[in-house]
Amino acid sequence: MDRNQQLFEQAKTIIPGGVNSPVRAFGSVGGIPRFIKKAQGAYVWDENESRYIDYVGSWGPAIVGHAHPEVVEAVSHAAENGLSFGAPTENEIRIAEAIRHIMPSMEQIRLVSSGTEATMSAIRLARGFTKRDNIIKFEGCYHGHSDSLLVKAGSGLLTFGHPSSAGVPEDFSRHTLVLPYNDIEALEQTFASKGDSIACVIVEPIAGNMNMIPATSEFVQAMRRLTDQYGSVLIYDEVMTGFRVALGGAQSIHGIKPDLTTIGKIIGGGMPVAAFGGRADIMSCVSPLGPVYQAGTLSGNPVCVAAGLKTLEIIQRPDFYNTLSARTLELSKGLAGIAEEANIPFTSRSIGGMFGFYFTAELPTCFSDMQRCNQVLFKEFFHAMLARGVAFAPSAYESCFVSAAHNSEIIADTLGLAAESMTEIA
Ligand code: PLP
Repeated sequence: MDRNQQLFEQAKTIIPGGVNSPVRAFGSVGGIPRFIKKAQGAYVWDENESRYIDYVGSWGPAIVGHAHPEVVEAVSHAAENGLSFGAPTENEIRIAEAIRHIMPSMEQIRLVSSGTEATMSAIRLARGFTKRDNIIKFEGCYHGHSDSLLVKAGSGLLTFGHPSSAGVPEDFSRHTLVLPYNDIEALEQTFASKGDSIACVIVEPIAGNMNMIPATSEFVQAMRRLTDQYGSVLIYDEVMTGFRVALGGAQSIHGIKPDLTTIGKIIGGGMPVAAFGGRADIMSCVSPLGPVYQAGTLSGNPVCVAAGLKTLEIIQRPDFYNTLSARTLELSKGLAGIAEEANIPFTSRSIGGMFGFYFTAELPTCFSDMQRCNQVLFKEFFHAMLARGVAFAPSAYESCFVSAAHNSEIIADTLGLAAESMTEIA
């Protein structure tokens, strides 16, 4: 029996659905998830010893490539000195300073262990600071799995066909106002009627959880203008886009200074580190300085912080983003060209080291556009590529990622295999 299949069967006897995060189960594409044994550079190997060019990158963190020797060394060194102290360490200051150097809007920073914790805490903080209850989020944006954010929340939930999660009392999500992404009129109307009750707007500034859909510059300006006008907090959720679409994240591309920002993924370099931060006057409301409680046994864990610090150092080296962006663009454009030759309705886009592709003739600009993409062709392409040793995200609603280890040869290999796959599914 295929070892992935054997492990999947065994996993299902003890772990719900056989996985520790739903989209890993291949629910929307069908088939057997690959159980990964090791990863190096741009590649992952499964339990059958099959090798894949990896465009999932642990869902974003692996920007310098898997098991980068300098990151591994930093982690080993930190581990030798103890795994966790539950007390402050010097490296927590260093990583916070490194983050602020890259994202100056994060004047004060608190480290946590997951993106979910970061967004949940940022929202509590926005509510505590403004003394208001309502929040605005956008359809298709995912901000982690805390109760009030699990409303029309993108990939994981879409993939499984639940617009929202069971187990969330109506009362908890009552204060979450969900608006269409990139819809300025809906935003203006909501502020006009409820502006004084809105604590914050939380947004994926380049959405990555309904596949990749950037906010238009007009939408970005409207969010900043309206939150300023009504005294609401603008939260950029850059858990995915931070250090990914550009060194300084989407905010550096937009030229926007959000009030709060949430980050994760890359700042842990593959280990659990995330953070929220922003305006010093807002952050001064966080415990122990202020009344908004937030805590974590493993927050700022020394081994994880070591991985993150080294990763932040590597990505600031000359030309890192120029090369990454060029390779990602080459891949994204290459895929579109191949699909065109095969006469398949297909579009793609990339920003920095992040890309999306869509089986539709028009570039999607919101969640309902995404729903019109051809899911059957996506599944067929996904499996045709997987069988040839290329792993894309196992859902049409996810973005994909390129790392610094994806050199031109690997991109060319991918495009060669994509040409075969497109011909097969055409
Ligand atoms: N925010 C965004 C934009 C994300 O993409 C994610 C996860 O993919 C999260 C928040 C939640 O992060 P985590 O999975 O680390 O809890």
